[in-house]
Amino acid sequence: MLYFVKIEELRAHLATEKRAGKTIGLVPTMGALHAGHLALMKSARECDVVVSSIFVNPLQFNDMADLASYPKNLERDRELMKDDCDILFAPNAEEFYAEKPEMSMRFDLDSRLEGAFRPGHFSGVGIVVSKLLNIVQPDKAYFGLKDLQQYILVKKMVRDLSIPTEIVGCPIVREESGLAMSSRNGRLSKSGWDVASNIYRGLTQAKELLASHSLREVKKEIQAFYADIEGLEIEYFEFVDTSFEVISNNSTNSPMAICVAAYVDGVRLIDNLYLRSEN
Ligand code: AMP
Repeated sequence: MLYFVKIEELRAHLATEKRAGKTIGLVPTMGALHAGHLALMKSARECDVVVSSIFVNPLQFNDMADLASYPKNLERDRELMKDDCDILFAPNAEEFYAEKPEMSMRFDLDSRLEGAFRPGHFSGVGIVVSKLLNIVQPDKAYFGLKDLQQYILVKKMVRDLSIPTEIVGCPIVREESGLAMSSRNGRLSKSGWDVASNIYRGLTQAKELLASHSLREVKKEIQAFYADIEGLEIEYFEFVDTSFEVISNNSTNSPMAICVAAYVDGVRLIDNLYLRSEN
């Protein structure tokens, strides 16, 4: 696996790969890798060259304590990814943002769920993803459906800006308990891990109940299920439609997904269950 920290050196190398007719797949990450990240890299294997970035993007953190405690272990990451990735791009913040960006980005999704609870988050995501797509100019870029809103936002941004990269969504990889894999899970205590595993249980129960109950009943039931779990603090638990509008009780739209954000041991976790078969 080749390793680049400088933007211009990576660009020069990729230019030679492109001249040789190779296709490029990009997997953006913030490191502290787990099997979910590696699954994205394995999907990217359909391209000739797999490039993964590791960069903890300060612009997308609205909570500075969360940024400071974000896990980092580049040596371990390099070892884990070396069979699934051809090129690692891991710039430091000074290399990536020589100057603090002048710009910010606004999205329709800013007013809902992650957008509403994490002001400025999607602007930071939009800027870092745009920059990575400009630097690498990949044929395809791979994103996890674990961050469903982010995936939809990136897909729309690429469409709106005519960026010539296909955005591919990859399924959520879970622990045996159902807990969605996340770099943040490493900050959970043993008991916190068990508590957090109930997040997915609530989602699957909601999906089952939807077959025979109204949305209002399901929401009430699952909110009560979550409220009973000591140590689990739900930030939001919502049904959304294809426009990521939160579905109210009397909405005629059928839900596309159930989304949840929660705190366990002071760690913020998100998960979702997609209710349609197509991406
Ligand atoms: P992160 O390092 O958390 O920014 O995530 C980098 C990429 O990995 C994003 O596209 C995430 O959606 C994806 N990802 C993170 N966790 C998972 C998971 N459990 N399953 C699938 N994809 C994931």
